[in-house]
Amino acid sequence: MNRDSYPFPIPEGRTVVGKERFHFHCHPEVSCYLTCCHKVEMYLYPHDILRLKNRLGLHSGEFLQRHARIAEGSHPYFPAVMLNMADSEGYPCPFLIKAGCSVYKDRPSSCRTYPLERAVERHPEAEQLRIHYFMTHHSYCKGHQEERTYTVGEWERDQGIHEYNLLNDLWAEVDAFFATNPWQGEGAAGPRQQLAFMVCYNIDEFRSYVSRHNLLSDFRLQKDERRRIKRDDTELLKFGFNWLQFALGDRRTLIPR
Ligand code: SF4
Ligand code: SF4
Repeated sequence: MNRDSYPFPIPEGRTVVGKERFHFHCHPEVSCYLTCCHKVEMYLYPHDILRLKNRLGLHSGEFLQRHARIAEGSHPYFPAVMLNMADSEGYPCPFLIKAGCSVYKDRPSSCRTYPLERAVERHPEAEQLRIHYFMTHHSYCKGHQEERTYTVGEWERDQGIHEYNLLNDLWAEVDAFFATNPWQGEGAAGPRQQLAFMVCYNIDEFRSYVSRHNLLSDFRLQKDERRRIKRDDTELLKFGFNWLQFALGDRRTLIPR
């Protein structure tokens, strides 16, 4: 595919993956095993944090303190969060142990998607998001030389990416909303932005906030939905995304009582 004719900017060093099969297999016998789990510049999305903190049995605030740092986001109006590497030789991921990934079932989106990268294209006039996949090419990664092949769909199923993609797409919508600078003159790190940061990245703090302010009772929610929000962090995160767009952007993402 000609880079210039592709309707989306192709990141440097990547190639477009369409319907064709690609060679890849990562397993303990590859000579590069776990090389890629060192010195990683990895963004953590809201759902990544939720899964990791539950896996580790940490409060989300403590997870952020121990394992994450604030970084520049995709636009000036909301920061991103990145995973800190351990401060030891080779800067390994803090979840890497001799046997491999200690959080494998709850590993972040980027680890699941690799060696692919997923990009979401949104046209304001189009209802549906357009999804693009790119193949990364790191010379140290020998998985590309293995015999096994996948299509993108097979890779997604194999890696259990579906729920992550779903939540990341909702997050992309919220982040696109933040890019409109909805802070009403407060500027970066004002009270509204801090509230939004808590909803997106500190879900346990948001749960306390919801309970303190009896927030669920302000909206028309099915009994079942209310119950799910109360006991499930992912459902609470979805509610939080809707609530932020309702409260800050006057969007009809929730129906008040
Ligand atoms: S570098 Fe590639 S093949 Fe090697 S462990 Fe990482 S993902 Fe697997
Ligand atoms: S979370 Fe697991 S798979 Fe991802 S970089 Fe860390 S050790 Fe590797």
